[in-house]
Amino acid sequence: ESRAYGRAVAGALAEVAEALAVAEEELGRLDAVAGDGDHGRGMLRGVRAAAGAAQAAVDGGHGVASVLGAAGDAWAARAGGTSGVLWGAALRSAGEQLGDERSPLGTADVRAAVWAAVETVQGLGGAEPGDKTLLDALVPFHDALDTAAGSDTPVGAAWQQAARVADRAAEETAGLRPRVGRARPLADRSVGTPDPGAVSLALCVRTVAVAFER
Ligand code: ADP
Ligand code: MG
Ligand code: MG
Repeated sequence: ESRAYGRAVAGALAEVAEALAVAEEELGRLDAVAGDGDHGRGMLRGVRAAAGAAQAAVDGGHGVASVLGAAGDAWAARAGGTSGVLWGAALRSAGEQLGDERSPLGTADVRAAVWAAVETVQGLGGAEPGDKTLLDALVPFHDALDTAAGSDTPVGAAWQQAARVADRAAEETAGLRPRVGRARPLADRSVGTPDPGAVSLALCVRTVAVAFER
């Protein structure tokens, strides 16, 4: 039921926080190539705040929609930077899409929540696929979930398949030129290096995939 999903979300965010702590420096290096080098620090601050807020919402007896909403608000408030605002709003809208009523949640429900996140990121940031942003990992991730939903793949397996797709897509952003965000003025320098926001997004969904296995 919805509270069990809320607990799962809080647990997954805590694991993502650990993974981002390990990756913090590397993400900062990637962001320093054409950006301002703060992506690792921002993601870590954001996810730690989100994990704390999620746990508080769980302790308050809330369901998955409120847990994701509280997590998103805390992420946006604490991360600083473009990616924090986008991640925070994306988590909140994913939660609103899931709601607290539907149970059990299947692959199609998760796909719809990820699509809500895509629409929110596009609406707020104005980027399109191909602009070398986190959307270049998030949209392929969504599309893989969509394919899996169409073939009735169970949600855990679907998430794992989609996480592998996101990983590959994030690596492939190395070939793109940034057309939005802080990296645009140094676009030439960025070619050959993957987008930090796409790399961190792939890491986050991969970490959640591992959590699904347990
Ligand atoms: P900042 O650029 O404010 O320092 P971060 O370093 O935390 O923020 O995040 C940079 C990442 O944010 C980029 O690598 C990119 O993936 C993502 N990003 C930047 N602008 C946009 C946008 N308009 N739409 C989607 N993602 C974006
Ligand atoms: Mg930055
Ligand atoms: Mg910054």
